Amino acid sequence: MAGTILVIEDDEASRILACYLLEAAGHAVRAASDGATGFRMALDLRPDLILCDIQMPAMDGYEVAAALRAHPAWRAVPLVAVTAFSMPGDRERALEAGFTAYLSKPINPETFAQQVGSLLACAAAAPPRTAM
Ligand code: MN
Repeated sequence: MAGTILVIEDDEASRILACYLLEAAGHAVRAASDGATGFRMALDLRPDLILCDIQMPAMDGYEVAAALRAHPAWRAVPLVAVTAFSMPGDRERALEAGFTAYLSKPINPETFAQQVGSLLACAAAAPPRTAM
């Protein structure tokens, strides 16, 4: 299923690749290069799903998750961490922070759009807490 997706990612190459793959799969994609901008865009854009890096300037991914989840209207939006976790416990911390799922970086161009599409479909049925 296609939807409106917000990509929040400070690394330009990763951002461009994610946007390219998602647009090619038929999604409407917007992007932000830091967490604070991404949070503001999320409030305006009301995306169907948000992909969010963890390590970013201005607001990191944990702060974006906390700020979004503090808004009653934003408690249910699918928020997917896309990151190269470096420490044991990072995945658990992401889920506790309010992320609904995570995808590991580097993203796999062969499967990325399909994984995101599955998360969109899951979210339409019930909020998932899944790892891929
Ligand atoms: Mn980053």
